[in-house]
Amino acid sequence: MSQPAGQHTVRQHNRALVLRQVADAPRQSRAQLALATGLTRATVSGLVDELLVAELLAELSPDRGSRGRPGSPLILNANGPAGLGVEVNVDYISACVLDLTGQIRARQTELVDNRLTTPAAGVDRAIRLAQRVRADAEADGLTVVGASIGVAGLVDSVGVLRRAPNLPGWQSVDLGGAFGDAMRLPVTVDNEANLAALAQLWFGESPQPRDFVLVSGEIGVGAGVVLDGQLYRGVHGHAGELGHVVVDPAGPSCGCGANGCLEQVAGQEAMLVKAGVVAERGVISTGLAAPDGAVAELHRRAAAGDARTRQALGDAGTALGIAIAGFINVVDVPVVLLGGLYARLGEWLVAPISAELDRRVVSREWAPVEVGVSGLGSDACVRGAAATVINALIESG
Ligand SMILES: [Zn+2]
Repeated sequence: MSQPAGQHTVRQHNRALVLRQVADAPRQSRAQLALATGLTRATVSGLVDELLVAELLAELSPDRGSRGRPGSPLILNANGPAGLGVEVNVDYISACVLDLTGQIRARQTELVDNRLTTPAAGVDRAIRLAQRVRADAEADGLTVVGASIGVAGLVDSVGVLRRAPNLPGWQSVDLGGAFGDAMRLPVTVDNEANLAALAQLWFGESPQPRDFVLVSGEIGVGAGVVLDGQLYRGVHGHAGELGHVVVDPAGPSCGCGANGCLEQVAGQEAMLVKAGVVAERGVISTGLAAPDGAVAELHRRAAAGDARTRQALGDAGTALGIAIAGFINVVDVPVVLLGGLYARLGEWLVAPISAELDRRVVSREWAPVEVGVSGLGSDACVRGAAATVINALIESG
């Protein structure tokens, strides 16, 4: 049975209201916050004092230019609580710390082929990277208060990685438990494409649409679906597995157990093999994050006009367009954004994807679909992860 809201709950709610107001419009005085929130000045002053003590807010020097009694502008404290984001992907791991204002304060990426490691060793290595990045941020005066882990696979609601089609052997891995125990922090775990889509929503260049699908390509292919400014997770949290939509029923077998899935036709390794950059799949760390890696070579060849590379990218774009058109016919989303490797190769992928959408989306005449490129680069997942920690802190007041 629901209880009436007690004094404590009301106070918590009002603290969150004030904090959100400062986050959305920094540099307001107490008086301006009272006007904006509808709370009394006395209430706002008390809450602001609490938020200053909790180091969630900071106060700037009073604005002497204004008439009458100057009010001190309030901002989120950039040197207080912070969020840690971690990404465990197929061929790299990455971690970053964001301060309350959303600035990246520490970041590291490490190339590692997790297909060649046991889950225990892979998780251990990611924890050590996360600890180093946390230490960097804390040496800079921040206090990491929580972590969120993004992983290339299906995650359940208690933070267990159920299955990662591109990481054989990584099944039922308790990532949340392992990170939580080692780092002594509250930890959440999510699919990496979901976190990248949240980063797009929160940090994308304006005007950032509130309805879009972000299609991220690495070795796997994932999609994060945002509808009306909210991440759409599906009933069990498994929505967005665009990489396992079939685009060629006679195509190569996939780690998910099926064959002809999109990521086998248009994923990073399929493109590299087809372009002749590598001879076969899975033999080297081809790393999106590697500045001199195979992906950089793919980009170089495409830019130089190499015919085989252009053909490989055109074929990948066509397969992507077929899968995305099917998705749009079912879900009706007006904007497609390319992320990760696909953003880097967007120059050659947008046209073939758009051509398929123009041919296959039944509502195209009345609701044309825009195809664009995310500007967030390969940091999207870790930034989104760290930002979920920050946002939860602000929402809870
Ligand atoms: Zn598959």
